Amino acid sequence: MLEIKNLSVTYPNNVKALEDVTVSIPSGKLVGVIGPNGAGKSTLLKGALGMVNRSGSVAFEGEPIEKIQQRIAYVEQKGNLDMDFPITVLQCVLLGTFPKLGWFKRPGKQEKEISMDALKRVGMEEFANRQISELSGGQFQRVLLARTLAQDAVLIFLDEPFVGIDIKSEGIIMDQLFKLRDQGKTILIVHHDLTKVGKYFDGLILLNKRLVASGEVDEVMTHDNLAKVFGEGAFTDIGGN
Ligand code: ADP
Ligand code: MG
Repeated sequence: MLEIKNLSVTYPNNVKALEDVTVSIPSGKLVGVIGPNGAGKSTLLKGALGMVNRSGSVAFEGEPIEKIQQRIAYVEQKGNLDMDFPITVLQCVLLGTFPKLGWFKRPGKQEKEISMDALKRVGMEEFANRQISELSGGQFQRVLLARTLAQDAVLIFLDEPFVGIDIKSEGIIMDQLFKLRDQGKTILIVHHDLTKVGKYFDGLILLNKRLVASGEVDEVMTHDNLAKVFGEGAFTDIGGN
């Protein structure tokens, strides 16, 4: 279980991005974080990871989250990522093996095999020697997922991985995420497209600076909850409850 308790984040410019968020995420679940622009979704991930100043506590399987830092994968929201960085696809995926390897060892045959296998799983093995700058958004996102697979992470945080990517890449990524979930990995995904939440997620966290609701998708996606956060009318095209 990932237990976030009384998490608050105030940025240096005095913006209160999160106020007193307490939420538990059972292990082995694929959970979506939803909420309007500026709701603090990205801040929730960064706060949980200790990347921003926070108050409150975050524990995974009863231990402070810092203890498993090497086994957490985090893919930032696009736009914050430097796609012009001069490395190949394979080198990018190999980075995933570094935490386990130890910083002063060079990746060897075994790490390359792990990385190539990860690339195969996302259908990107033929691109191994390409520069990452030559990839489409969807291909790049698949490579970042391959890096996560190579890392053998137990906790996976993805911030809006599907924005601006092709439907094929989205499908491949979701298939791999379902597999990871079935292997018992805990996955948190910031997502803003409400139409697919029922298909994609086991549970949801609905956020608007404060926690509005969390739990099973059906419990969270109620008219009242959505109206509270997105305004009346926002849910008419969602269908269902
Ligand atoms: P979301 O991901 O839901 O769109 P964010 O977590 O990025 O929201 O941002 C929440 C609030 O915090 C917004 O008002 C945003 O402008 C502010 N914010 C985010 N990052 C910073 C930062 N580094 N410095 C100051 N304010 C920030
Ligand atoms: Mg964000």
